Amino acid sequence: MKSKREQLDELNKYWQENCKCELRKTATQAVFGDGNAESDMVFIGEAPGKKEDEGGKPFIGAAGKFLAEMLEGIGKKREEIYITNIVKYRPPDNRDPEQTEKDACNEWLINELKIISPKLIVFLGRHSMTRFFPEELISDLHGKLLIKTTPELGKQAFLPLYHPAAALYNGGMREILIKDFKKIPKALEKIIQ
Ligand code: URA
Repeated sequence: MKSKREQLDELNKYWQENCKCELRKTATQAVFGDGNAESDMVFIGEAPGKKEDEGGKPFIGAAGKFLAEMLEGIGKKREEIYITNIVKYRPPDNRDPEQTEKDACNEWLINELKIISPKLIVFLGRHSMTRFFPEELISDLHGKLLIKTTPELGKQAFLPLYHPAAALYNGGMREILIKDFKKIPKALEKIIQ
């Protein structure tokens, strides 16, 4: 039986060659999910920014630094959890990813999630949340533990949070994100029980 890490490496190799996302034309490289394949939590962001496009890892810029700080606040190191994006290539000038680009990267993400099979999926921002909750607003669902059965993942727990980049320089949103983030350990406990 192959390890989760080995399965992810194979998945990334396949999609790096076969992904039809138009953003491949302008991005430097694909940015794979990163971290502990055995983690019980997966964090899903939006798309790589400039730093991530250059460095080939998700969340290594200012938003990533803030994310690492919040993780430390709940006693977790970044390497202990798994972080990925719904879109694996940087949109030009960091514009929002378009639906066609999200769709093109969708199978890659879903298979990544199936391999890791986390207890909890944490959405970082509305783009990842609306992949699973298309009718909902992040302003309504942030900080709420949600259980939903989806055709792709079966019964799964989700926790939507504001995106760290959006909250970084917005005092009110920053406070809410920090408060919501602290709900993660309790949410995990609740799921495991
Ligand atoms: N913002 C994201 O959504 N993802 C990254 O990898 C970096 C910034």
